[in-house]
Amino acid sequence: MSSSPLLSRQLFYDGKPQPASSGKTFQSINPSNAAPLAEIPVASQSDVDAAIAAADRAFPSWSQTPPIARSRILQKAASLLRERNDEIARVESLDSGKAFTETSTVDVVTGADVLEYYANLVGGGGLNGETTQLREDAWVFTKKAPLGVCAGIGAWNYPIQIALWKSAPCLAAGNTMVYKPSEFTSLHAQTLAEIYLEAGLPAGVFNVIYGAGDVGGYLTSHPTIEKVSFTGQVSTGMKVAGSAAGNMKYVTMELGGKSPVIILPDADLENAVNGAMMANFYSTGQVCTNGTRVFVHASKKSAFEQRLLEKMQHVRAGPLFDEATNFGPLSSAAHLEKVTAYIRHGIETDKAKLLYGGLGKPQVSNDLENGFWVRPTVFTDCTDDMRIVKEEIFGPVMSILYYQTVEEAVKRANTTELGLAAGVFTKDLNMAHRIIDQLQAGITWVNTWGESPAEMAVGGWKNSGMGVENGRRGIEAWVKNKSTLVDMCGEVPTVFAKL
Ligand code: NAD
Repeated sequence: MSSSPLLSRQLFYDGKPQPASSGKTFQSINPSNAAPLAEIPVASQSDVDAAIAAADRAFPSWSQTPPIARSRILQKAASLLRERNDEIARVESLDSGKAFTETSTVDVVTGADVLEYYANLVGGGGLNGETTQLREDAWVFTKKAPLGVCAGIGAWNYPIQIALWKSAPCLAAGNTMVYKPSEFTSLHAQTLAEIYLEAGLPAGVFNVIYGAGDVGGYLTSHPTIEKVSFTGQVSTGMKVAGSAAGNMKYVTMELGGKSPVIILPDADLENAVNGAMMANFYSTGQVCTNGTRVFVHASKKSAFEQRLLEKMQHVRAGPLFDEATNFGPLSSAAHLEKVTAYIRHGIETDKAKLLYGGLGKPQVSNDLENGFWVRPTVFTDCTDDMRIVKEEIFGPVMSILYYQTVEEAVKRANTTELGLAAGVFTKDLNMAHRIIDQLQAGITWVNTWGESPAEMAVGGWKNSGMGVENGRRGIEAWVKNKSTLVDMCGEVPTVFAKL
């Protein structure tokens, strides 16, 4: 166990850290060695009410601040995030268990990119509406208005990135937010609130509360909340969307996936293996868009498996801050139990052929013995009816499935209730487009996997979600339209005239 002093965190609303009135706390745990990192206060219902009231008070002035002025503040916050990249990434690694080689190059950077993107978008007129000339003396104009106080609910896998992907368009559009991070990775939230404040964001525009599902449930069903932006599991998303629908709240749902990667016989083998590995082992497989069903043409079975096995040696578990480490532990003890149960099920019940990994821990030093480590695992010769092939595991578990024809691969790829991501590897670009066109998923890649830049609107089809985040389309989820018809002819064409 670590002897480092525990970090301290407080709720944050009305522009300052605030004590919680619940008297309850929960611990943040370092997943690499199971040592406690921080004691986090749980928000009571009256704390949540107070945070929402602060956001509600801040809304009139923030929503009327000109977009260019909002943009300047958000740009400043993006610069502060970049300046403090390593410091923030360090805490993200400790909190989530992701290797510092990842958090220092991806997590903060891709969050800051989105903040910069939306600051630029609204500063450059991205909230302007349309004008339509109806006839000589009449026209319609539309205006985009912010929604009001919004709730942001985060998952634990990309903590600060998720907080930024939600708060950036929310605040840029003139809304205010109460944000609840996952109870497994809460440490980033106060830091982000402090950076926003330092950048000049007025008190109450971005607020933070902590707790588990009960706190999230209270927040998202609160009558003052106009919109819920949720990232998490399908089952939780369904509950949250259901309760929001009852109150006619706007919702965006970013949920789970079981995404297919289709590798055609002509694909560059090296690239296809690299893509499949990134799609399964990056972030220890805890990425929503993971391509966990890898469809390989039967003629390439031995070549694909051989090259994959060679490259699996490059997955390196180890201390989070070691430059060579590219594979961390799972994020929590509960998640370790879940992923381990799936691997056991794959071996014992699905009877899939274990090509690599399996039960047990990867080799790590003694001081990491108590961490939530799992081995990167590959099953092959899988069939569509196996549980490991059908359900989202959210861990480093690849299932390889062989196919004979493209039509068959596409049909099997689409046989799922989920539709988050999909991709194809081939040198034949016409074929790639034909396949992508048929795949039922909102996020698709050709000859690559996983990149999700600020400019790319991403969101799931089917049970994987509702709405999109990022890109020009992403801002639409944070505004409502008002249409106005102006008639200058001066005469209402009434039907109520004397006959
Ligand atoms: P989860 O659903 O267990 O929890 C997500 C958040 O919801 C947490 O903050 C939790 O406290 C809160 N919550 C739980 N019950 C709630 C309720 N009744 N009302 C309101 N809030 C509630 O998900 P998780 O395990 O933290 O995250 C992993 C899941 O997230 C995976 O399925 C993954 O695919 C998905 N995910 C999706 C995306 C995407 O963009 N599509 C991104 C990251 C993660």
